Amino acid sequence: MSTLDEHLIPVFEEVVARNPGETEFHQAVREVLESLGPVVAKHPAYVNGEVLRRLCEPERQIIFRVPWVDDGGRIQLNRGFRVEFNSALGPFKGGLRFHPSVYLGIVKFLGFEQIFKNSLTGLPIGGAKGGSDFDPKGRSDAEVMRFCQSFMTELYRHIGEYTDVPAGDIGVGGREIGYLFGQYKRITNRYESGTLTGKGLGWGGARVRTEATGYGTVFFVKEMLAARGDSFDGKRVVVSGSGNVAIYAIEKVQQRGGRVIACSDSGGYVVDETGIDVELLKLVKNEHRGRMSDYAERRGATARFVSAGSIWEVPCEIALPSATQNELNGTDARRLIANGCGIVAEGANMPTTPEAVDFLRHAEVLFAPGKAVNAGGVATSALEMQQNASRDSWSFGYTEARLEEIMASIHQRCLETADEYGSPGDYVVGANIAGFTQVADAMLALGVI
Ligand code: NDP
Repeated sequence: MSTLDEHLIPVFEEVVARNPGETEFHQAVREVLESLGPVVAKHPAYVNGEVLRRLCEPERQIIFRVPWVDDGGRIQLNRGFRVEFNSALGPFKGGLRFHPSVYLGIVKFLGFEQIFKNSLTGLPIGGAKGGSDFDPKGRSDAEVMRFCQSFMTELYRHIGEYTDVPAGDIGVGGREIGYLFGQYKRITNRYESGTLTGKGLGWGGARVRTEATGYGTVFFVKEMLAARGDSFDGKRVVVSGSGNVAIYAIEKVQQRGGRVIACSDSGGYVVDETGIDVELLKLVKNEHRGRMSDYAERRGATARFVSAGSIWEVPCEIALPSATQNELNGTDARRLIANGCGIVAEGANMPTTPEAVDFLRHAEVLFAPGKAVNAGGVATSALEMQQNASRDSWSFGYTEARLEEIMASIHQRCLETADEYGSPGDYVVGANIAGFTQVADAMLALGVI
């Protein structure tokens, strides 16, 4: 693990002391602080203005009870969260995650990352995240609806198009956003489209939002390749996960000439040397809410389902971890290096453990962090907010072109910033510093609030 600058050690120690047991949050803070040594050396105002200490403390944290009634008439109980982390650049913005692993530490790690990601997009959005320990898996549509209605019955008082704008994340897709928006509209008696993003196309949603995180991930990697005079052409790619991010990353890699030979879910992974059939994957996952084992069964002879082990055993030239946090560990990184992988770019948030990141960077594997790579989702959400504010609706082609430009500009900012601070080609340093300085400057300008 890298060391921290002497000015940053007390900041990190305070975070650990004030937020006991929140290991993912500590990990996310440390990962950012490790890049900031040269910045605080050059700009003492950030230390004197206590910007870092203030940045690590959320502006507001909301925890609430979510009671609901299941199909059997039993009362169920979950916990809801919204952490409004930083609004120096714009209204709080970030997704909601419904997964049994959700607790305050996960929401805070995601909210903290979101501040820098949103800043990198260059769009006027602050950072937030929320969710619940509710598990939508195996629940009927009616149960998911009742849960979402109860969740929104508390959350509605904290959000709004100028205040806080939630969206989807793990376990929250178009269906959940529909139920959440419906309840918000009913309680407030306002058709305030810009309050939630990821809406359906027929009722205020933006074209390309569904595809944006996966497509944006691939646009970012395309820039990484282009910077070295290379392209996706003929490359073997492994994408973990098979949810929203993974599916559209797979689709775009294949459109750009690469071959995705493996993807996964929490039950195992599929190797398909002829290339994953993305239309079949969408059918199995989105329409039937099925498993990778179902995909393998329907795909037939070319696909092999592996229920144990790690997807990172599959040799590839490009790896796009797109499932969940800490899914690619030191052993996986060593395997990827041994198998000749040249690029690891994070489609998910913090999927690579600190140990794995160290191995990859020392082995000179090009490594790009999620806050830059997967920023296309939130950037397109901000484009959805723009369309809602102007009562407009853009075409698919125009929106996709905007997304591609935004990803190219994030890539450029990362490289320029890394150069400026003496770490040429280092995407971690570039993303952290570029994301941080814009927020920090705004915080100084806005005074001690
Ligand atoms: P989804 O819920 O749509 O999909 C998550 C996928 O990851 C599922 O296939 C899930 O499988 C799989 N998964 C979860 N845990 C594991 C595991 N331990 N091993 C293997 N597979 C696993 O979520 P998204 O695609 O939306 O999100 C994926 C990641 O991308 C998250 O880190 C999220 O924060 C990040 N992200 C998402 C954005 C978005 O716009 N959606 C924007 C930016 C980042 P299973 O069904 O078995 O659980």
